[in-house]
Amino acid sequence: MLTETCKFKLEPTEEQRKVLEGLFSAYRSMVEECLKSAMSMNITSRKRLHESIYGELRRRFRDYPSHYIYTAVTVALGMYKSYRRLSRKRSYVKPPSIELLKAVLLDDTHLFWFNWGSLKIATHKGHLTIPFRLHEHAEKFRGWQVKGSRLVRDGDEYYLHVTFKKVVEEKECEGLLGIDVNEKSVDLAIIKPDKIKFVKIDISEAKYIRDRYFKKRQSIQRRTRGEVRARLLAKYSRRERWRVDAILHKASKVIAEIAAEEKVKPVMENLKNIRERIKYRRRMNRRLHSMPFRKIQFSISYKSIERGYKPEYIDARNTSRMCPICGELNKPNGHIYKCRRCGFQADRHIVAAWNIAAKLPMCRPLPLAAKATEALKAEVERIVIKC
Ligand SMILES: [Zn+2]
Repeated sequence: MLTETCKFKLEPTEEQRKVLEGLFSAYRSMVEECLKSAMSMNITSRKRLHESIYGELRRRFRDYPSHYIYTAVTVALGMYKSYRRLSRKRSYVKPPSIELLKAVLLDDTHLFWFNWGSLKIATHKGHLTIPFRLHEHAEKFRGWQVKGSRLVRDGDEYYLHVTFKKVVEEKECEGLLGIDVNEKSVDLAIIKPDKIKFVKIDISEAKYIRDRYFKKRQSIQRRTRGEVRARLLAKYSRRERWRVDAILHKASKVIAEIAAEEKVKPVMENLKNIRERIKYRRRMNRRLHSMPFRKIQFSISYKSIERGYKPEYIDARNTSRMCPICGELNKPNGHIYKCRRCGFQADRHIVAAWNIAAKLPMCRPLPLAAKATEALKAEVERIVIKC
Protein backbone atom coordinates (compact mmCIF):
# COMPACT_ATOMS: atom_id res chain seq x y z
CA MET A 1 0.00 0.00 0.00
CA LEU A 2 1.18 3.48 -0.84
CA THR A 3 0.34 6.56 1.18
CA GLU A 4 1.14 10.14 0.42
CA THR A 5 0.10 13.50 1.81
CA CYS A 6 -1.02 16.44 -0.27
CA LYS A 7 -1.67 20.01 0.85
CA PHE A 8 -4.55 22.24 -0.28
CA LYS A 9 -5.13 25.88 0.57
CA LEU A 10 -8.69 26.45 1.69
CA GLU A 11 -10.64 29.47 0.57
CA PRO A 12 -13.30 29.97 3.24
CA THR A 13 -15.78 32.84 3.20
CA GLU A 14 -15.62 35.37 6.05
CA GLU A 15 -18.40 33.58 7.84
CA GLN A 16 -16.76 30.19 7.44
CA ARG A 17 -13.50 31.66 8.71
CA LYS A 18 -15.23 32.60 11.96
CA VAL A 19 -16.58 29.09 12.35
CA LEU A 20 -13.11 27.64 11.75
CA GLU A 21 -11.64 29.97 14.35
CA GLY A 22 -14.22 28.75 16.86
CA LEU A 23 -13.47 25.15 15.95
CA PHE A 24 -9.73 25.64 16.41
CA SER A 25 -10.06 27.21 19.83
CA ALA A 26 -12.55 24.58 21.03
CA TYR A 27 -10.31 21.81 19.72
CA ARG A 28 -7.33 23.30 21.52
CA SER A 29 -9.25 23.22 24.80
CA MET A 30 -10.27 19.62 24.18
CA VAL A 31 -6.69 18.54 23.59
CA GLU A 32 -5.54 20.59 26.57
CA GLU A 33 -8.02 18.84 28.87
CA CYS A 34 -7.03 15.42 27.54
CA LEU A 35 -3.37 16.22 27.98
CA LYS A 36 -3.91 17.40 31.54
CA SER A 37 -5.74 14.21 32.46
CA ALA A 38 -3.17 12.02 30.75
CA MET A 39 -0.31 13.75 32.55
CA SER A 40 -1.85 13.97 35.99
CA MET A 41 -2.93 10.33 36.01
CA ASN A 42 -0.09 9.04 33.86
CA ILE A 43 -2.44 7.44 31.34
CA THR A 44 -1.11 6.11 28.06
CA SER A 45 -4.00 3.87 27.13
CA ARG A 46 -6.44 5.36 24.70
CA LYS A 47 -9.36 3.49 26.23
CA ARG A 48 -8.62 4.67 29.76
CA LEU A 49 -8.11 8.28 28.76
CA HIS A 50 -11.32 8.22 26.78
CA GLU A 51 -13.25 6.78 29.73
CA SER A 52 -11.87 9.32 32.15
CA ILE A 53 -12.62 12.40 30.09
CA TYR A 54 -15.28 11.78 27.47
CA GLY A 55 -18.33 12.57 29.61
CA GLU A 56 -17.00 15.89 30.79
CA LEU A 57 -15.86 17.02 27.34
CA ARG A 58 -19.16 15.93 25.82
CA ARG A 59 -20.98 18.22 28.25
CA ARG A 60 -18.62 21.13 27.71
CA PHE A 61 -18.58 20.92 23.92
CA ARG A 62 -22.07 19.68 23.30
CA ASP A 63 -22.43 21.56 19.99
CA TYR A 64 -19.41 19.85 18.49
CA PRO A 65 -19.56 16.49 16.74
CA SER A 66 -18.36 13.93 19.27
CA HIS A 67 -15.67 12.58 16.97
CA TYR A 68 -13.57 15.66 17.63
CA ILE A 69 -13.18 14.33 21.16
CA TYR A 70 -11.90 11.01 19.80
CA THR A 71 -9.25 12.67 17.68
CA ALA A 72 -8.35 15.10 20.50
CA VAL A 73 -7.64 12.05 22.68
CA THR A 74 -5.39 10.68 19.92
CA VAL A 75 -3.49 13.95 19.58
CA ALA A 76 -3.05 14.40 23.34
CA LEU A 77 -1.83 10.83 23.79
CA GLY A 78 0.67 11.31 20.98
CA MET A 79 2.02 14.45 22.65
CA TYR A 80 2.20 12.85 26.07
CA LYS A 81 3.86 9.67 24.85
CA SER A 82 6.54 11.47 22.91
CA TYR A 83 7.20 13.63 25.96
CA ARG A 84 7.56 10.53 28.13
CA ARG A 85 9.86 8.90 25.60
CA LEU A 86 12.09 11.97 25.43
CA SER A 87 12.25 12.53 29.17
CA ARG A 88 13.59 9.01 29.62
CA LYS A 89 16.49 9.90 27.36
CA ARG A 90 17.30 13.43 28.54
CA SER A 91 17.43 15.04 31.94
CA TYR A 92 15.20 17.99 31.12
CA VAL A 93 12.46 18.08 28.53
CA LYS A 94 9.95 20.87 28.27
CA PRO A 95 6.46 19.57 29.04
CA PRO A 96 4.21 19.44 25.96
CA SER A 97 2.61 22.77 25.26
CA ILE A 98 -0.74 23.34 23.68
CA GLU A 99 0.64 26.52 22.10
CA LEU A 100 2.37 24.37 19.52
CA LEU A 101 -0.87 22.83 18.38
CA LYS A 102 -1.69 24.22 14.96
CA ALA A 103 -3.81 21.44 13.56
CA VAL A 104 -7.14 19.73 13.98
CA LEU A 105 -7.04 16.03 13.31
CA LEU A 106 -10.01 14.90 11.25
CA ASP A 107 -11.46 11.45 11.20
CA ASP A 108 -12.24 10.38 7.66
CA THR A 109 -15.63 8.80 8.15
CA HIS A 110 -17.35 11.26 10.46
CA LEU A 111 -15.78 14.67 10.30
CA PHE A 112 -14.99 15.44 6.70
CA TRP A 113 -15.81 14.50 3.15
CA PHE A 114 -13.24 15.27 0.52
CA ASN A 115 -14.41 16.28 -2.92
CA TRP A 116 -12.21 17.44 -5.73
CA GLY A 117 -12.39 21.18 -5.26
CA SER A 118 -14.27 21.38 -1.99
CA LEU A 119 -14.22 20.07 1.52
CA LYS A 120 -17.32 19.30 3.54
CA ILE A 121 -16.59 19.45 7.23
CA ALA A 122 -18.74 18.81 10.31
CA THR A 123 -18.65 21.68 12.80
CA HIS A 124 -20.61 23.14 15.71
CA LYS A 125 -22.51 25.20 13.12
CA GLY A 126 -23.48 22.25 10.98
CA HIS A 127 -21.76 21.13 7.80
CA LEU A 128 -19.62 23.66 5.94
CA THR A 129 -18.60 23.29 2.33
CA ILE A 130 -15.29 25.12 1.89
CA PRO A 131 -13.80 25.49 -1.57
CA PHE A 132 -10.10 25.10 -2.35
CA ARG A 133 -8.07 25.42 -5.49
CA LEU A 134 -6.78 22.24 -7.07
CA HIS A 135 -3.17 22.20 -8.18
CA GLU A 136 -1.45 20.11 -10.79
CA HIS A 137 0.41 17.96 -8.28
CA ALA A 138 -2.89 16.69 -6.85
CA GLU A 139 -3.99 15.16 -10.15
CA LYS A 140 -2.01 12.01 -9.48
CA PHE A 141 -4.26 11.19 -6.50
CA ARG A 142 -7.45 10.94 -8.48
CA GLY A 143 -8.60 7.38 -8.01
CA TRP A 144 -6.74 7.04 -4.72
CA GLN A 145 -8.63 6.63 -1.44
CA VAL A 146 -8.73 9.36 1.19
CA LYS A 147 -7.27 7.99 4.39
CA GLY A 148 -7.19 10.89 6.80
CA SER A 149 -6.76 14.55 7.04
CA ARG A 150 -5.60 17.43 9.15
CA LEU A 151 -6.83 20.98 9.16
CA VAL A 152 -3.84 23.25 9.64
CA ARG A 153 -3.76 26.93 10.48
CA ASP A 154 -0.79 28.99 9.42
CA GLY A 155 -1.21 32.64 10.35
CA ASP A 156 -4.51 33.64 8.79
CA GLU A 157 -4.58 30.85 6.26
CA TYR A 158 -6.15 27.44 6.54
CA TYR A 159 -4.79 24.36 4.83
CA LEU A 160 -6.06 20.86 4.42
CA HIS A 161 -3.43 18.12 4.55
CA VAL A 162 -4.96 15.02 3.05
CA THR A 163 -3.40 11.58 3.21
CA PHE A 164 -4.25 9.48 0.19
CA LYS A 165 -3.76 5.75 -0.07
CA LYS A 166 -3.62 3.33 -2.90
CA VAL A 167 -3.41 -0.42 -2.84
CA VAL A 168 -0.95 -1.61 -5.44
CA GLU A 169 -1.12 -5.14 -6.69
CA GLU A 170 2.13 -7.02 -6.30
CA LYS A 171 3.58 -8.49 -9.45
CA GLU A 172 5.13 -11.91 -9.93
CA CYS A 173 8.93 -11.88 -9.54
CA GLU A 174 11.37 -13.75 -11.75
CA GLY A 175 14.39 -13.14 -9.56
CA LEU A 176 16.04 -10.91 -7.01
CA LEU A 177 17.64 -7.52 -6.99
CA GLY A 178 20.31 -7.13 -4.30
CA ILE A 179 20.81 -3.46 -3.44
CA ASP A 180 23.92 -2.29 -1.62
CA VAL A 181 23.89 1.40 -0.70
CA ASN A 182 27.28 3.04 -0.32
CA GLU A 183 28.65 6.54 -0.03
CA LYS A 184 29.56 6.90 -3.66
CA SER A 185 27.46 4.28 -5.37
CA VAL A 186 24.41 2.10 -5.14
CA ASP A 187 25.34 -1.34 -6.38
CA LEU A 188 22.81 -3.71 -7.82
CA ALA A 189 22.97 -7.44 -8.40
CA ILE A 190 20.22 -8.74 -10.66
CA ILE A 191 19.97 -12.46 -10.09
CA LYS A 192 17.68 -14.56 -12.25
CA PRO A 193 17.68 -18.24 -13.14
CA ASP A 194 19.20 -17.57 -16.54
CA LYS A 195 21.43 -14.63 -15.89
CA ILE A 196 23.28 -12.44 -13.49
CA LYS A 197 23.91 -8.79 -14.09
CA PHE A 198 25.55 -6.02 -12.09
CA VAL A 199 24.74 -2.36 -12.24
CA LYS A 200 26.66 0.36 -10.47
CA ILE A 201 24.74 3.57 -9.97
CA ASP A 202 27.24 6.32 -9.40
CA ILE A 203 26.03 8.78 -6.76
CA SER A 204 29.46 10.18 -5.95
CA GLU A 205 28.21 13.65 -6.81
CA ALA A 206 26.02 13.49 -3.66
CA LYS A 207 29.10 12.78 -1.58
CA TYR A 208 31.04 15.67 -3.11
CA ILE A 209 28.12 18.00 -2.47
CA ARG A 210 27.99 16.88 1.15
CA ASP A 211 31.72 17.36 1.61
CA ARG A 212 31.63 20.79 0.01
CA TYR A 213 28.73 21.98 2.13
CA PHE A 214 30.33 20.55 5.26
CA LYS A 215 33.36 22.77 4.66
CA LYS A 216 31.12 25.71 3.89
CA ARG A 217 29.24 25.22 7.17
CA GLN A 218 32.49 25.01 9.10
CA SER A 219 33.66 28.30 7.66
CA ILE A 220 30.32 29.98 8.42
CA GLN A 221 30.61 28.75 11.99
CA ARG A 222 34.09 30.23 12.26
CA ARG A 223 33.31 33.59 10.73
CA THR A 224 29.81 34.52 11.80
CA ARG A 225 27.67 34.44 14.88
CA GLY A 226 24.15 35.04 16.13
CA GLU A 227 21.34 35.54 13.74
CA VAL A 228 23.49 35.87 10.64
CA ARG A 229 25.05 32.50 11.38
CA ALA A 230 21.68 30.85 11.92
CA ARG A 231 20.30 32.33 8.71
CA LEU A 232 23.30 31.33 6.60
CA LEU A 233 23.42 27.84 8.06
CA ALA A 234 19.75 27.32 7.37
CA LYS A 235 20.12 28.59 3.84
CA TYR A 236 23.05 26.32 3.00
CA SER A 237 21.48 23.30 4.69
CA ARG A 238 18.39 23.77 2.57
CA ARG A 239 20.41 24.10 -0.57
CA GLU A 240 22.50 21.05 0.25
CA ARG A 241 19.47 18.94 1.04
CA TRP A 242 17.77 20.02 -2.13
CA ARG A 243 20.77 19.13 -4.30
CA VAL A 244 21.45 15.77 -2.62
CA ASP A 245 17.77 14.85 -2.76
CA ALA A 246 17.66 15.50 -6.50
CA ILE A 247 20.45 12.94 -7.03
CA LEU A 248 18.93 10.36 -4.70
CA HIS A 249 15.58 10.80 -6.36
CA LYS A 250 17.09 10.18 -9.77
CA ALA A 251 19.06 7.14 -8.57
CA SER A 252 16.09 5.52 -6.85
CA LYS A 253 13.94 6.04 -9.92
CA VAL A 254 16.53 4.25 -12.08
CA ILE A 255 16.62 1.38 -9.55
CA ALA A 256 12.83 1.03 -9.40
CA GLU A 257 12.70 1.01 -13.19
CA ILE A 258 15.31 -1.74 -13.32
CA ALA A 259 13.29 -3.78 -10.79
CA ALA A 260 10.17 -3.42 -12.94
CA GLU A 261 11.92 -4.11 -16.23
CA GLU A 262 13.74 -7.19 -14.95
CA LYS A 263 10.75 -8.30 -12.83
CA VAL A 264 12.90 -8.79 -9.74
CA LYS A 265 12.22 -8.34 -6.06
CA PRO A 266 14.37 -5.65 -4.42
CA VAL A 267 16.33 -6.82 -1.37
CA MET A 268 17.94 -4.30 0.94
CA GLU A 269 19.79 -4.51 4.19
CA ASN A 270 18.32 -3.63 7.52
CA LEU A 271 19.77 -0.30 8.48
CA LYS A 272 20.53 -1.42 12.00
CA ASN A 273 23.44 -3.39 10.63
CA ILE A 274 24.98 -0.66 8.59
CA ARG A 275 27.38 0.39 11.34
CA GLU A 276 28.96 -3.01 11.37
CA ARG A 277 29.75 -2.71 7.71
CA ILE A 278 31.35 0.70 7.77
CA LYS A 279 34.40 1.07 9.95
CA TYR A 280 33.85 3.23 12.98
CA ARG A 281 36.28 6.07 13.26
CA ARG A 282 35.47 9.55 14.41
CA ARG A 283 35.75 11.05 10.97
CA MET A 284 33.77 8.18 9.60
CA ASN A 285 31.11 8.90 12.17
CA ARG A 286 30.23 12.24 10.65
CA ARG A 287 30.19 10.76 7.17
CA LEU A 288 28.03 7.92 8.33
CA HIS A 289 25.49 10.13 10.01
CA SER A 290 25.30 12.51 7.11
CA MET A 291 24.70 9.64 4.70
CA PRO A 292 21.06 9.59 3.78
CA PHE A 293 20.80 5.78 3.83
CA ARG A 294 17.33 5.86 5.25
CA LYS A 295 16.18 8.40 2.73
CA ILE A 296 17.44 6.51 -0.28
CA GLN A 297 16.04 3.21 0.99
CA PHE A 298 12.68 4.83 1.57
CA SER A 299 12.70 6.35 -1.86
CA ILE A 300 13.71 3.09 -3.57
CA SER A 301 11.06 1.26 -1.61
CA TYR A 302 8.33 3.74 -2.48
CA LYS A 303 9.10 3.81 -6.17
CA SER A 304 9.38 0.03 -6.39
CA ILE A 305 6.09 -0.56 -4.59
CA GLU A 306 4.52 1.91 -7.01
CA ARG A 307 5.58 -0.40 -9.81
CA GLY A 308 4.38 -3.57 -8.06
CA TYR A 309 7.66 -4.79 -6.55
CA LYS A 310 7.74 -4.68 -2.79
CA PRO A 311 11.22 -4.80 -1.23
CA GLU A 312 12.35 -7.22 1.46
CA TYR A 313 14.90 -6.45 4.14
CA ILE A 314 17.58 -8.77 5.38
CA ASP A 315 20.12 -8.84 8.17
CA ALA A 316 23.29 -7.69 6.48
CA ARG A 317 25.72 -9.60 8.68
CA ASN A 318 28.71 -10.83 6.65
CA THR A 319 27.36 -9.59 3.34
CA SER A 320 30.60 -7.76 2.69
CA ARG A 321 32.80 -10.63 3.86
CA MET A 322 31.30 -13.79 2.46
CA CYS A 323 32.44 -15.22 -0.86
CA PRO A 324 29.30 -15.64 -2.98
CA ILE A 325 30.86 -18.62 -4.77
CA CYS A 326 32.24 -20.80 -2.00
CA GLY A 327 30.94 -19.22 1.21
CA GLU A 328 34.38 -18.53 2.70
CA LEU A 329 34.63 -15.45 4.93
CA ASN A 330 37.30 -13.04 3.71
CA LYS A 331 38.22 -9.60 4.88
CA PRO A 332 37.68 -7.15 2.04
CA ASN A 333 40.79 -5.15 1.32
CA GLY A 334 40.42 -1.98 -0.72
CA HIS A 335 37.98 -1.94 -3.61
CA ILE A 336 38.61 -5.47 -4.74
CA TYR A 337 37.24 -8.48 -2.98
CA LYS A 338 39.43 -11.54 -3.26
CA CYS A 339 38.58 -15.00 -1.99
CA ARG A 340 41.59 -16.84 -0.53
CA ARG A 341 39.91 -20.20 -0.96
CA CYS A 342 38.46 -20.25 -4.48
CA GLY A 343 40.23 -17.27 -6.00
CA PHE A 344 37.04 -15.43 -6.91
CA GLN A 345 37.63 -11.71 -7.45
CA ALA A 346 35.23 -8.82 -7.88
CA ASP A 347 34.40 -5.25 -6.89
CA ARG A 348 33.60 -5.41 -3.18
CA HIS A 349 30.30 -3.58 -3.55
CA ILE A 350 29.16 -5.99 -6.23
CA VAL A 351 29.95 -8.86 -3.88
CA ALA A 352 27.90 -7.18 -1.15
CA ALA A 353 24.91 -6.62 -3.46
CA TRP A 354 25.10 -10.25 -4.61
CA ASN A 355 25.21 -11.51 -1.01
CA ILE A 356 22.32 -9.28 0.00
CA ALA A 357 20.16 -10.82 -2.71
CA ALA A 358 21.34 -14.32 -1.82
CA LYS A 359 20.32 -13.87 1.82
CA LEU A 360 16.66 -13.82 0.97
CA PRO A 361 15.20 -17.29 1.09
CA MET A 362 13.56 -17.61 -2.32
CA CYS A 363 11.04 -20.12 -3.49
CA ARG A 364 13.47 -21.58 -6.02
CA PRO A 365 17.18 -22.16 -5.57
CA LEU A 366 19.44 -19.38 -6.67
CA PRO A 367 21.06 -19.97 -10.01
CA LEU A 368 24.64 -19.28 -9.17
CA ALA A 369 25.21 -20.27 -5.61
CA ALA A 370 27.63 -23.16 -5.67
CA LYS A 371 27.91 -24.05 -9.34
CA ALA A 372 29.06 -20.68 -10.64
CA THR A 373 31.71 -21.36 -13.21
CA GLU A 374 34.32 -19.34 -14.97
CA ALA A 375 32.12 -19.34 -18.03
CA LEU A 376 29.24 -17.82 -16.14
CA LYS A 377 31.45 -15.22 -14.61
CA ALA A 378 32.48 -14.11 -18.05
CA GLU A 379 28.87 -13.58 -19.00
CA VAL A 380 28.34 -11.19 -16.16
CA GLU A 381 27.32 -7.82 -17.44
CA ARG A 382 28.50 -4.66 -15.78
CA ILE A 383 26.85 -1.31 -16.34
CA VAL A 384 27.64 2.01 -14.76
CA ILE A 385 24.96 4.70 -14.61
CA LYS A 386 25.91 8.18 -13.44
CA CYS A 387 23.37 10.14 -11.42
ZN1 LIG B 1 35.40 -18.23 -2.59
